Amino acid sequence: MSIEILFYKLLSHYKDELPQDLLAAWQPKRIIDALIECNPDVEQNLTIKLGFQSSHGEPGKAFFQGHQKAVTRRLLRQYYHKLGSYLHTPTSSKIPDQQKMRSFLLGAAQRVEEHCRETTIIANISEFHAVACVCGRHLKRNVRAAKLKPYLKCPDEACEAEYDLLPDESGKSVWKLRELEFVCPKCETSNWFGAHLVGAGSSFKCVECETPYKVDVRLVVFPADQEAAS
Ligand SMILES: [Zn+2]
Ligand SMILES: [Zn+2]
Repeated sequence: MSIEILFYKLLSHYKDELPQDLLAAWQPKRIIDALIECNPDVEQNLTIKLGFQSSHGEPGKAFFQGHQKAVTRRLLRQYYHKLGSYLHTPTSSKIPDQQKMRSFLLGAAQRVEEHCRETTIIANISEFHAVACVCGRHLKRNVRAAKLKPYLKCPDEACEAEYDLLPDESGKSVWKLRELEFVCPKCETSNWFGAHLVGAGSSFKCVECETPYKVDVRLVVFPADQEAAS
């Protein structure tokens, strides 16, 4: 339970970045994978110092120093899964080595206690690229994660808008909604849609001439040495 709580405590700091259903059921593998996608450094132990910046911009003396003991896949592998196995009746007639069990359990308790010190920090501190999603939700992604994967999907299942991290006119990286263009054959006006809205059965009207259209999705296969028919 303590290990699960460590994961849940950490998850609460990532709620802007993760789908709600991740919290609904305990799926440690899925949770840690999702956390790593949000923060590639999530499994690193960190020392965090807080201090005032001097007038010259240099960091001042730290008035607080804390440690972030990472919640990792190793913690699951080394302790969590084995702890789970102790809850079941042994299926073989072999008598479990109680001394070995005891020292393992003490080791596990000690490992968990490393997270329970006064200066332990559970946080999600980073520089972020943020955007207000079309659904109104505040989205953000750690700059390191965005560098590895410059793509973001709104975690709200009812939305799922997709964004790509692209440079704006001033060269600053911003999340841009992934859009598709459709040129109306009647009036030759460009219609733009969020790519997440376009699926089989969806319908729309041309923004200019109001001709109604319906979207169908098909599999198109063509010889590799030819361009796809538009
Ligand atoms: Zn959204
Ligand atoms: Zn039109």
